[in-house]
Amino acid sequence: MGINYTLSKKPLVDYIDVKAVHKGQCHCGSVKFSVNLKNGLIDPRRCNCSMCKRRGAVVASVQLKDLTIDEGESILSLYQFNTNTAKHFFCSKCGIYTHHQRRSNPEQYAFNIACLDGVDPFVLADVPVLDGEDHPTDRLEKS
Ligand SMILES: [Zn+2]
Repeated sequence: MGINYTLSKKPLVDYIDVKAVHKGQCHCGSVKFSVNLKNGLIDPRRCNCSMCKRRGAVVASVQLKDLTIDEGESILSLYQFNTNTAKHFFCSKCGIYTHHQRRSNPEQYAFNIACLDGVDPFVLADVPVLDGEDHPTDRLEKS
């Protein structure tokens, strides 16, 4: 006999309302950041690359200048692999992934929308999955 969990009854939505400048943080609160989201959440998505499929986060993109670390920059850990282009940041205390500098577009960060104050990523009805297994940059290198 399993535990009788209740399923979330929040209605699914096509977009999530966010503030023009939205605050976010890791789980323990050591890392706090602000994201300029005056154009809303851009391209919320998942990705099936070897990194993203394991962390499972729904991310959205912003230009580098539109994400600011307000607290805990020294608590952030950096993880890199493969071509070492992308920079994956996570809180070294609670382990939560906050954001990464993108490999396909190093002018942008992708960030974990679940870290945004008051945002439940699971209400998004349709979250596309990018084919990161077949990364565009790897394709260029192969051809
Ligand atoms: Zn933390």
